[in-house]
Amino acid sequence: MTVRVRIAPSPTGDPHVGTAYIAMLNWCFARRHGGQFILRLEDTDQGRCSQASADNILSALRWLGLEWDEGPDIGGARGPYVQSQRHAQGMYHQYAWQLVEQGDAYPCFCSAERLSEVRAQQVADKSSFIGYDRHCRDLDPAVARARAEAGEAHVIRMKAPLDGTFSYTDRLRGQPVTKQWAELDDQVLLKADGWPTYHLAAVVDDALMGITHVIRAEEWLNSLPKHIWLGERLGFAIPEYVHVGLLRNPDKSKISKRKNPTNLLWYKAQGFLPQAMLNFLALLGHSHPDEREFFDREELLRIFDLDRLNVGGPVFDLQKLTHVQGQWLRELDDAALKAEIHRCLDERLDELLPLLRPRMTFGGDVTWLSDFIFSDGVSPSVADLVPKGWDAPTTARALETLHKRLVKAVSKEDLPWQVTALEELVRSLCEQQGWQPKQIFSALRVALTGRNQSPPLFDTLHAIGQHKALPRLAAAVELLKRQRS
Ligand code: GLU
Repeated sequence: MTVRVRIAPSPTGDPHVGTAYIAMLNWCFARRHGGQFILRLEDTDQGRCSQASADNILSALRWLGLEWDEGPDIGGARGPYVQSQRHAQGMYHQYAWQLVEQGDAYPCFCSAERLSEVRAQQVADKSSFIGYDRHCRDLDPAVARARAEAGEAHVIRMKAPLDGTFSYTDRLRGQPVTKQWAELDDQVLLKADGWPTYHLAAVVDDALMGITHVIRAEEWLNSLPKHIWLGERLGFAIPEYVHVGLLRNPDKSKISKRKNPTNLLWYKAQGFLPQAMLNFLALLGHSHPDEREFFDREELLRIFDLDRLNVGGPVFDLQKLTHVQGQWLRELDDAALKAEIHRCLDERLDELLPLLRPRMTFGGDVTWLSDFIFSDGVSPSVADLVPKGWDAPTTARALETLHKRLVKAVSKEDLPWQVTALEELVRSLCEQQGWQPKQIFSALRVALTGRNQSPPLFDTLHAIGQHKALPRLAAAVELLKRQRS
């Protein structure tokens, strides 16, 4: 058997480090076993998908060096590799109706209103089962088909068993994964607009693309009974399913933008080297048999062993990544290091030029004029942080309030990190708190840059970026508080 594995991202946002992690595992597994690694775009949720996101995901994975053998950009024998294109060819519809013919699925005519009433009632009754009440499950199949053919709005739902227990042994987990069938919803397979849901599309594609192993994140464990059952009912060869731990923030919560940058392109823009990122990803839940922490992709492919993967939720530790990055950078030869320095500057220069120009005398001034943008942290003094008319406790309180407000806005994703939006937020907080803009602006400037003078404040805040700016604010608050005691 030739191993065939895949990464199947949904192009709904920025390229995520979690996608890179799963892609890396699949890529290693394929290369280790002389198999193929396939990239498939799962874009059935058309309202949320975009071409820009798809392009970014492909370019981020390519940046990491995880080259695929078949995919949307390079084609292959089992294409197309984009689900919307497969849908246009009618690939999913026929399988949904095959299931209906076999009695394994059924058309459901319930309206959205009815579904929300049922749900509201279940919630009010504190029902142990929240989901579709299977109202259409036992309609006469011939009548149901006739209604669907006559154009009555419907979805197709899976008619999974109502009793018994599903059980599966995932090679990475000691205990078999079990689930009561009665707890599972009659999953929608084909939506009212004729588009397949992820569940149907993924099972069909994995089979038609000859996928032998599905290595994916554990968030899909709950869907496993549905996927295996669907594959069996459709007469497909069932791939081996392997569920790996989700990446975690240092506090063990599921990795999130709020606590860690999750966009791969952010790391690229910050100057992280792809070989450092790959090395770091390879240390998550996995280790070198000799406990080495610094190795290249050839070595990774030599030592990779899926069975040694720890599924306990590996922590994405930025400090560790930065440490690995430093090692890789210092290993570069002179020419490569020079090229890297140029690349880092070039990438940000267009954005920084308007901020730097008014203060420059020599080209080399860029080094010290923008140090606070590139550096990891700044070291403001308490004397500089405390503006005229305020004392340390007042400044600490104000910066803390501002920090909280920014964190909240960022986590609710209602703040685009842009100059005008940032300025509006800070100014409205000034009004609300009765602060003099001059004072909070001064404290903010020093907290961000370590200096009393900088390019325009909100351009600076924008250029530093949320992932550096927020920790600097928090550090300034801490420093001021220590001062008090
Ligand atoms: N499209 C799914 C995702 O983006 C893929 C899940 C799977 O690998 O089956 O997470």
